[in-house]
Amino acid sequence: MEVSLIYDLSLSELASLLVAWGEPAYRARQIWRGLYRNFWKTPEEFTNLPASLRKKLTESLLFNNLVPVTTLRSSDGETLKTLFRLQDGKAVETVLMKYDPSVAVHQAHRDHPGQGRRTVCISTQVGCAMGCVFCATGQMGFKRHLSSGEIVAQVMYFARQLLAQGEVITNVVVMGMGEPFHNYENTMSAIDRLNDRGGYNFGARRITISTVGLVPAIRRFAAEKRQVNLAISLHAANDELRDSMLPINKSYTIDELLAACRDFIAITGRRITFEWALVNGVNDTPEQAQLLARKLKGMLCHVNAIPLNPTDGYSGQATTRKHAEEFKEVLSRFGIPCTVRLRRGMDIHAGCGQLVSEY
Ligand code: SAH
Ligand code: SF4
Repeated sequence: MEVSLIYDLSLSELASLLVAWGEPAYRARQIWRGLYRNFWKTPEEFTNLPASLRKKLTESLLFNNLVPVTTLRSSDGETLKTLFRLQDGKAVETVLMKYDPSVAVHQAHRDHPGQGRRTVCISTQVGCAMGCVFCATGQMGFKRHLSSGEIVAQVMYFARQLLAQGEVITNVVVMGMGEPFHNYENTMSAIDRLNDRGGYNFGARRITISTVGLVPAIRRFAAEKRQVNLAISLHAANDELRDSMLPINKSYTIDELLAACRDFIAITGRRITFEWALVNGVNDTPEQAQLLARKLKGMLCHVNAIPLNPTDGYSGQATTRKHAEEFKEVLSRFGIPCTVRLRRGMDIHAGCGQLVSEY
């Protein structure tokens, strides 16, 4: 019999299971709090439960599904990347980024004002079917979806690590391996579980989902009016270039994508972030910046540009500092806010999927 993962269960599913075992319904809340408030990871830690129930939990449910295989630390110690082995032997990676308290004080957690941002970047699939040419995950192809519990457990792992230092996660970004909108149901149930007020109670506004631009899913997401932030991997301002970098563009053109984005903003009132991996001489030119500025005119948005993290399967190179600054300069002349992010964790291959492809 296949043992199910406890993190895959919603509170009501857990309650039904316990009732079926002849346990009182309140046990579900006790277990829920143990998992999502205390971050207990083995049934033995649930000392508030009778030994017989702990035994039943051990026999019937899987608690420890993510086995950390290696953790790499950037040279400044501020970025940690952990490669986990899943139950079926496949691997995913999760990243923790720590920021100095002075960097983003306004982002600090209400209960931990002295602490800087602690952002966890989670994966939603093993590999990815979208085939973006510059992306290490895309280069490995699609292996499988992660279950909602496998997504949640990545967050719990780092919540537990930080707790040991008296810290908490302040932000979650769904920007690890995989395309979250290709695994829509599991990604959303994972977010619901993280949001649960009786459990982890992690605010939707502190979560950002990044998508390559699956238009129907963006429309569905907008209609659901979640408080979750949306980021779009745009990377090119004309269809010919975007076709060559992100194959999904052949299904949904830039104009169709941006129309869905405008509707998302109109429905939710939320600002969209556009991601742009600056590739030297490819999409970091003043022409691309001008074209982009025209396309984004009047939109409630922000452009997040980072120099490309070069990968083995792609010949493109990172932009230069000079080109990156010019790119930002053109956008700001047109009134489009742009941040050029520092490369974090380059020395530990923090780029999407790069550690797993080596493994
Ligand atoms: N599939 C989703 C989320 C995961 S990728 C998406 O594509 O949005 C997270 C971000 O990393 C995306 O913006 C993606 O385009 C970017 N990315 C992937 N490979 C990269 C690389 N080698 N260098 C810089 N950014 C990269
Ligand atoms: Fe998939 Fe995102 Fe990588 Fe594209 S950039 S291949 S969508 S993970």
